Amino acid sequence: MNKHLIELDGAEGGGQILRSALSLSMITGTALRIVNIRGRRSRSGLLRQHLTAVRTAVDICGAAVEGDELGSRSLTFRPGTIRGGDYRFAIGSAGSAVLVLQTLLPALLFADGPSSLAISGGTHNPLAPPADFIERSWLPLLRRMGAKVDFELLRHGFMPAGGGELLVRTTPGELQPLHLPEAGAVLSRSARALLAAIPGHVADRELEKVKRHQDWHAASAQVVRLPEDQGPGNALLLEVECEQLTLVFCAFGQSGVSAERVASQALHQADDWRRSGTSVEEHLADQLVLPMALAGGGSFTTPVASDHLLSNCAVIEAFLPVRIDCTAGQAAGQHIRITPT
Ligand code: ATP
Repeated sequence: MNKHLIELDGAEGGGQILRSALSLSMITGTALRIVNIRGRRSRSGLLRQHLTAVRTAVDICGAAVEGDELGSRSLTFRPGTIRGGDYRFAIGSAGSAVLVLQTLLPALLFADGPSSLAISGGTHNPLAPPADFIERSWLPLLRRMGAKVDFELLRHGFMPAGGGELLVRTTPGELQPLHLPEAGAVLSRSARALLAAIPGHVADRELEKVKRHQDWHAASAQVVRLPEDQGPGNALLLEVECEQLTLVFCAFGQSGVSAERVASQALHQADDWRRSGTSVEEHLADQLVLPMALAGGGSFTTPVASDHLLSNCAVIEAFLPVRIDCTAGQAAGQHIRITPT
């Protein structure tokens, strides 16, 4: 199945193309060349978070690499053997530690022994999965597929200060296919407002707005006050626990945006998913296809075929002997099916 070298055009999407390609290059042992990295983004090329993903991947599998510089728009990566071990990496900015974790974790499941991996940087960044999403939504599904992974959020890190830290422990093992035709009945809803060095009324107003929404009036609501030195930062996390999986929706406090508006942003995401009648919300969808493809199969439904989902599927199909079908469902939503070829 291994080709000599896989070439990708990074302009087809964002950093996710690079991260998924690095994971798959390590796992399949196939060399990778990627050009036009993040080519259509306003600051194209490798930012610090992407460069950390590259360098940590190099460390984990002893890869030979060319183009691993800040701003670089092309990269050649020739992987070696993935080694289990105790790893500690720092992004050196508030770049998302979670996205670096998502690059390395799949590879460590195919290592030659157990690993511990500590990554410092941002743990709650806009436009990236918050640590809570990993802990409560993504990882439980990986565990159902057979992954042996423990996760700890040691310290929160918000934009722009960063300084958060994640710790995971993994033991290699086989992944099994997972099919999620439906989410199942809603078992509970909960809302948590994280606050670090931000006035308490912000969290109170966010939760008050959530509790006024018809779906959420019976939800549990909690203010989580973090040590001041982990801030400033505010995130509102809405969690919907269903029979088959848990969904996590997140919005971030920003100066100039009212607490009520932050709550509306998170509620809209939850509403969009609920109205769609699908099993998996948009962000989880693009992050589930890689582990499902590594397991050799899986399926779910999701509200939209996002650019992230489609570009990630194309990267996966370039590396693995799988076919990923994305078809419009009879009702709303898209049906995603991953099958071996
Ligand atoms: P770029 O700056 O090029 O867009 P990036 O490296 O910051 O790149 P993306 O390629 O945009 O990242 O990928 C971001 C990832 O974060 C996607 O998998 C997306 O689904 C996920 N994501 C974004 N927001 C959320 C959220 N609120 N909850 C969960 N996941 C999220």
